[in-house]
Amino acid sequence: MRNLHESQNRVPRPEHRDRRGGLRRASQAAKALVSFLCSLLVLAAVGNAVEVSARPGSVVRWSGDDSESCGRGMRTWPANAGTCWFPIDLLEVEGAVAVFRIRAGRREAARIRVTNYPYPVQRIKLEDSSKVDLSPEDLVRVRRDQARVKSLWLLAGPARFRLPLAPPLEEMGPAGSFGSRRFFNDQPRSPHSGADYPAAEGVTVFSVAPGTVVLASDLFFSGQSVFVDHGDGLVSMYFHLSSMSVAEGEQLESRAVIGEVGETGRTTGPHLHFGLRWRGARVDPSLLLGPVAEIPALVESADPVNQADVLFTTNPRHNSEPETKLDAKEIPL
Ligand SMILES: [Zn+2]
Repeated sequence: MRNLHESQNRVPRPEHRDRRGGLRRASQAAKALVSFLCSLLVLAAVGNAVEVSARPGSVVRWSGDDSESCGRGMRTWPANAGTCWFPIDLLEVEGAVAVFRIRAGRREAARIRVTNYPYPVQRIKLEDSSKVDLSPEDLVRVRRDQARVKSLWLLAGPARFRLPLAPPLEEMGPAGSFGSRRFFNDQPRSPHSGADYPAAEGVTVFSVAPGTVVLASDLFFSGQSVFVDHGDGLVSMYFHLSSMSVAEGEQLESRAVIGEVGETGRTTGPHLHFGLRWRGARVDPSLLLGPVAEIPALVESADPVNQADVLFTTNPRHNSEPETKLDAKEIPL
C-alpha cells in the first residue's frame, strides 16, 4: 500500500515525463494483447452444447461406438459397448448436471437438464395397518433389511448386460405407477421406485440379464425378494414372490427362472414389483425394457453455448454420489 500511495502522490519531474509516456504506451499494448488472447480463449470455449432434458428416474444415453469411459462429477466408469449411460435418480432435484465422456483420449463435456416432473399422487388403503404403523420389533427388522439392501447400491464391476433388458415375465402388461408419490392410509411414504406389472400368483419370473444373485430373502415390506447384480452397478429387483428358486451367490443366465409371482410383504394383491437401481439411482424399469431409441439421448444443440457453463454447472445435490440413505419408509410396495 505504501508504494502505491507514494506513486499516486508523487509529481513526476519533467525529465521523467517522456519515459513515463513510453511506459504507459507499452503497458496499454500489453493490456490489449492480454485482452486479445482472452477473447481467443473465450471464442475457443464457445461451441454447440451437447445436452438433453430428462425427468428424474430416467436414463440418458450418449451414443457412439467409440467412447472409452464416462463420468459425472468425480465418478468415472467404463463405457458399455462404446455408449455412455447416465441414470438420473428418481429424487434428483431439478437443475443442470454436468457429465463427460472420454473418446480417443479427449474429454468431451455435456449437460443433462433435469426437469421438474410431477409424478402422480397415489393413495392406497391397507386393511392391515401393521405394515404402515410399525411395531418396535418390526422397525428393528426393517432397519436390518435396509442395512442388507443398502450395501448393494455400491456394487461395481464389468457390465454383464446389453440394453434393452429381457422382460421379467412371459407376458408383460402395462407398467404401473413408477415414481408415484404415495400415501398409505393417508400417511405420506417414499415414492414408488419400481414398476408394478399385473400377473397372477404362480406366474414364472425371469432374470432380465446375466448376473449374480446378491440377495434372496424374505424382507418386511417387499416380501420374498431377489436382487441380481448385472455389473456396472446395475441391480434388478423382483419383489413379493410366492417362491424363490435361486440362492445368494448363484450365477444366472439371461432369462433364468428366479421364482414365482406372489403377494408376500406389503401388497394389495398378487403382482410383480420389478425395480432397477443403476449406480445407486432409482430408474424407471420400463425405460430399460423398451427400445433403446426411446431412451433420451445427448445431442448437439443448435444454439452455441459457452462450454464453460457446461463444465462448471453442476447439480448441488448429486455432485458425487446419489443419495443412498434409507429410512423406515423407504422400501416400496
Ligand atoms: Zn411396487
